[in-house]
Amino acid sequence: EPASARPRVLLLCSPCMGHLIPFAELARRLVADHGLAATLLFAAARSPPSEQYLAVAASVPEGVDLVALPAPEAPDELLASASVRDRVVRAVASSVPLVRDIARSVAATVPLAALVVDMVGAPARVVAEELGAPCYMFFTSPWMLLSLFLHLPAIDATRASEHRDAAEPIRLPGCVPIHTHDLPSSMLVDRSSETYASFVAMAKDAGTTPHGILVNTFPELEPAVGNAADGVKLPPVHAVGPLLLTRPISMDQDHYCLSWLDQQPRGSVVYVSFGSGGTLTWQQTTQLALGLELSQHRFIWAIKRPDQETPSGAFFGTSRHGDEDAALDFLPEGFMERTAAVGLVLQQPWSPQAAILGHASVGCFVTHCGWNSMLEGVFHGVPMVAWPLYAEQKMNAATMEAHAGAAIRANVRDGRLVSKEEVAAVIRRVMEGDEADRMRRRLGELRDKATHALSKDGCSACTLAQLTRRWKSTADSK
Ligand code: UDP
Repeated sequence: EPASARPRVLLLCSPCMGHLIPFAELARRLVADHGLAATLLFAAARSPPSEQYLAVAASVPEGVDLVALPAPEAPDELLASASVRDRVVRAVASSVPLVRDIARSVAATVPLAALVVDMVGAPARVVAEELGAPCYMFFTSPWMLLSLFLHLPAIDATRASEHRDAAEPIRLPGCVPIHTHDLPSSMLVDRSSETYASFVAMAKDAGTTPHGILVNTFPELEPAVGNAADGVKLPPVHAVGPLLLTRPISMDQDHYCLSWLDQQPRGSVVYVSFGSGGTLTWQQTTQLALGLELSQHRFIWAIKRPDQETPSGAFFGTSRHGDEDAALDFLPEGFMERTAAVGLVLQQPWSPQAAILGHASVGCFVTHCGWNSMLEGVFHGVPMVAWPLYAEQKMNAATMEAHAGAAIRANVRDGRLVSKEEVAAVIRRVMEGDEADRMRRRLGELRDKATHALSKDGCSACTLAQLTRRWKSTADSK
């Protein structure tokens, strides 16, 4: 069948790097392995989108059509005061008319195989409905969070108090118990608040996804994927992960940190990164710097300017700071000089993370526990220090530590300051001694399982094959 006649899947992705990366990989696989055509529509929260956002988008391989949706128009003041989530939600909701136009013009020439949206894409469902195509959600966080969403209406109905006052953890089938202090911050606010209402609305959207939910995980990592508590009915859930950035993007090419890594001994380097948006306070940045130094291990630190107000101060590639951004004046005095022989501080807004984690010299990953980052750690077999900052990251940390044995948590509970001694100690636990050996072995096993899940006979690849066969036969019968 000529590629131009293939049924086409439309994927609509919200403006977060953590969504765009797995969406791009899903689109690539649909085209390369499953005989479909794909159009990836990526929404922007601001115009022009950041350089790294465009670079990731541009790395989408040939065969996947890419459409950049314009950012919603909004006065700067409004953008500055809106939360990350509000901006993401607005960007997607405002793109629906354009998504409709694109979907119609696709459907005029080839069958529309499916519309795939992310967890804020519910407003676009009507487009699939109008055109009689199935609509799926691709959930880019772990099953544990999806399970929390899908069970939230039932949990809400039985809890009288605020979630933050609950003494008992939330127990979801097959998941580690979720302690109150590990719940996403949007659940710890007053249940009468708007923030909570929009969290519950997102959870309900997940539960009412018309045809099913694809989730970026694999059964060996989260064996309970798809399990429901008694009396709770779930939409069909399909584990298709880990879908990750596997090929370098243009910004990664010939990055000097990769040749620096070539010079370092195997497994000797600690890679520190808090994702595309994560930030620490000044005090915490100082303690982290001194702790790295104290640990006496080699390191690569993808550094961001500190932010006193929010742990996600660098989202959308915007910084609330001006020209002083370029200066490293916030680091402890003499730090750069003292660590010059063993450490590399990366100041660019984007580090070639997948290539770094895939490098044999890297032995530990200090991560903010964004799910993509954790999956990349697993995929490359790198033991992790879990340092959750926002969103559902504390839950991700808990499951990676207690359930998968792939990480050790730094004690960041309630935003407390992690001292330099603690930083050094937790890095040593991951890098040295028996516990570190056990973790390395465990990560080796997980890496093999992750690779297998994606291979031709692996469970994730087979799940996707089954699903796409169904899409194609339904599309062809129209
Ligand atoms: N990433 C990267 N270089 C950076 C920052 C992030 O390559 O400097 C990639 C990282 O590999 C991951 C994604 O961006 O694939 C971030 O997603 P994640 O879910 O870990 O965190 P988020 O940034 O969405 O909080």
